[in-house]
Amino acid sequence: MMAKRDLYEVLGVSKSASDDEIKRAYRKLSKKFHPDINKEAGAEEKFKEVAEAYEVLSDANKRAAYDQYGHASTDPNFGAGGGGFGGGGFGGGFGGGGFEDIFESFFGGGGRSYNPNAPRQGEDLQYSLNLEFEEAIFGKETTISYNREEECKTCHGDGAKPGTHPVTCSKCHGTGSLNVERNTPLGRVMTRQTCDVCHGTGQEIKESCPTCHGSGHMKDKHTVKVTVPAGVEDGNQMRLNGQGEAGKNGGPYGDLYVVFRVKPSKEFERNGSEIYYELPINFVQATLGDEVEVPTVHGKVKLKIPAGTQTETNFRLRGKGAPKLRGTGTGDQHVKVKLMTPKNLSKEQTDLLRQFAQASGMEVEEQDGSIFDKVKDAFKADKKKK
Ligand code: ZN
Ligand code: ZN
Repeated sequence: MMAKRDLYEVLGVSKSASDDEIKRAYRKLSKKFHPDINKEAGAEEKFKEVAEAYEVLSDANKRAAYDQYGHASTDPNFGAGGGGFGGGGFGGGFGGGGFEDIFESFFGGGGRSYNPNAPRQGEDLQYSLNLEFEEAIFGKETTISYNREEECKTCHGDGAKPGTHPVTCSKCHGTGSLNVERNTPLGRVMTRQTCDVCHGTGQEIKESCPTCHGSGHMKDKHTVKVTVPAGVEDGNQMRLNGQGEAGKNGGPYGDLYVVFRVKPSKEFERNGSEIYYELPINFVQATLGDEVEVPTVHGKVKLKIPAGTQTETNFRLRGKGAPKLRGTGTGDQHVKVKLMTPKNLSKEQTDLLRQFAQASGMEVEEQDGSIFDKVKDAFKADKKKK
């Protein structure tokens, strides 16, 4: 096998050539060596070489990688994540609109059509990850598994039986399409058709890979480690690069979107980093004051209820909320006091309340079961008197 020539040399441009210079050089050379035009021996090889060089040098990322790592950067096994550098060889190499460019310059055709040969990124996938209320607040590490389309492990994506390689399609010379002349009312028109031998891939597989039957892909279970950041909320999503499905023609893998589904809490409500809690207290605690323990996601916290606390009063427990997902620090827990009215009082309790009402200077007319409503009214009247 011939050693690979420097890609800049192939296109006859300098290392500092602009994108335009590279494009112009490519158009000129690909026209010159196109197998449909140039029947000289070796023209096809030159044509491929030019297309390959253009595929790398016309892509800013691939060009930068080539400048740094040379031909190793175009190796399909180069770089983590796989497939990043369009390892489809000539198949991938001819992507990037090469044929359209030639076609347009020859026939003045407008617009760009779908090129089945171009490297394409794989599909993105979505995964719903269920979290407990506390897990969303504190974050967690977990692994998730799902089925996805992966590069075939037997043939590494080229679809050929191990030990064999795809060869350039004999009918279309690797272009993936055929030019066909048709007579129309407007005269003879040249149209392009997908090659019927290689179905547009530009490559013929003589012996298919036994695992994937030539597709280069296989469904497989894929496992990914997920670090849930502290402070996520229901509906938030996180993108994991390259964890989607395998690309086509040497294109990169798609991405995975992990969508968080957070279970509501029985005790707490949450809005961003703020947590809300309703604390039931009885009227004696509210009237005389008390110290109580309040649950928070950080454990129990003592809270002083001052004497004379009204229902719906809010207390703030600083730093007892959820971490802020963006920025630093932690939110607060808001405690709203809810005064509970006692029911089913004993005789003793009723007597004491009656005494209390008298001591407050109120006359209480008792009716069935509604003693406490009366007492409440008495409290109100009492306050008004002051
Ligand atoms: Zn395979
Ligand atoms: Zn073909």
